[in-house]
Amino acid sequence: VAATEEVGPAPADSTFGITDAFLADPSPNKINLGVGAYRDDQGRPVVLQCVRDAAARISGSEFMEYLPIGGSLTIVEECVKLAYGEKSDVIQEKRFAGVQALSGTGACRLFAEFQKRFLPESRIYMPIPTWNNHHSIWREAGVPQRTFHYYHPECKGLDFPALMVDVKNAPNRSVFLLHACAHNPTGVDPSEEQWKEISYQFKVRNHFPFFDMAYQGFASGNLDRDAQAIRIFLEDGHLIGCAQSFAKNMGLYGQRVGCLSVLCKDEKQAIAVKSQLQQIARPMYSNPPVYGALLVSTILSNPDLKSLWVKEMKGMVDRITRMRTALRENLEKRGSLNWEHITNQIGMFCYTGLTPEQVDRLTHNFHIYMTRDGRISMAGVNTHNLSMLFFNACLFLG
Ligand code: PLP
Repeated sequence: VAATEEVGPAPADSTFGITDAFLADPSPNKINLGVGAYRDDQGRPVVLQCVRDAAARISGSEFMEYLPIGGSLTIVEECVKLAYGEKSDVIQEKRFAGVQALSGTGACRLFAEFQKRFLPESRIYMPIPTWNNHHSIWREAGVPQRTFHYYHPECKGLDFPALMVDVKNAPNRSVFLLHACAHNPTGVDPSEEQWKEISYQFKVRNHFPFFDMAYQGFASGNLDRDAQAIRIFLEDGHLIGCAQSFAKNMGLYGQRVGCLSVLCKDEKQAIAVKSQLQQIARPMYSNPPVYGALLVSTILSNPDLKSLWVKEMKGMVDRITRMRTALRENLEKRGSLNWEHITNQIGMFCYTGLTPEQVDRLTHNFHIYMTRDGRISMAGVNTHNLSMLFFNACLFLG
């Protein structure tokens, strides 16, 4: 008997499974709000002009050789500038260990493996809720998980007091996973003042902040503003870990371009940490892909392409913001329910507060697809499906 005969099917992925169900639905009125990828007002995927220009510039160059295990040095340099600021001391003093990673997921996974190896007694504290894959990534790396309070379902905002209690009660030197901006799935971020208090308390308890920054620029349209939390922690002298991704903000989803950086006390330590990260990467995937890295480094190191990128990113953010306003106005015109959270939350997602049963009804009766936690992708809303969405919502709400 072949060993594979005993293998049963794995459960469908909770996010990607929605796209499969959407594609299989023959209804002409179906709407997909499950997908975590930007769409234009016609519902089409977008390739940014800066990416097209970068592709034209690199076409014909001889770039298909392997990258080093740690990836493109240019990318890493540009990434740390984006995260920590152009003129940051950690960059001047070379106090960072940075490697190109397989987008944000790969950066998280590398860090989780690093944590397992070098902080063997530690746990990872995750917000409730968090991006589903965070749980799987740290589980697969064998790092025990704990949770901390984050979202308050009644006020549909941050449960700051409970979060602070959890930070204070965690054992000294705990590792915390924080979403740098545009928290997925809730769209709820701490305010500047709250980040300062969190950072202070981390200092008191000697906690290690690991920032997952999958949406830099996608929350506010401004790269520095979206790195505010990281800059506050930096100012307070924390050593930080950071996962970066160009999936959303450059629309390079399938190219898998990202970066993991870990700040260290000095250059010597940074060199050691980088060598360990490379050693972890080598048997996993040997070295990261080259084409997307070239696109990103071409854009980031060319001032004209970089400003075109920022302008196009702002365009995406502005469209999402307009859709938030329109959806909220439409829903509130109809009745007494308060939909303020749609415009208060930021980033690509809105956490509607719908229960899994309500989501199932919306999908079965009205062909509206979203994740069962009630998260909708605002990028899936456009001026064409808005009225259909509104019409269906009215029927649904009775
Ligand atoms: N982290 C968060 C919070 C995300 O929402 C995502 C994507 O949805 C990622 C990381 C990783 O995405 P990717 O691996 O495509 O960069």
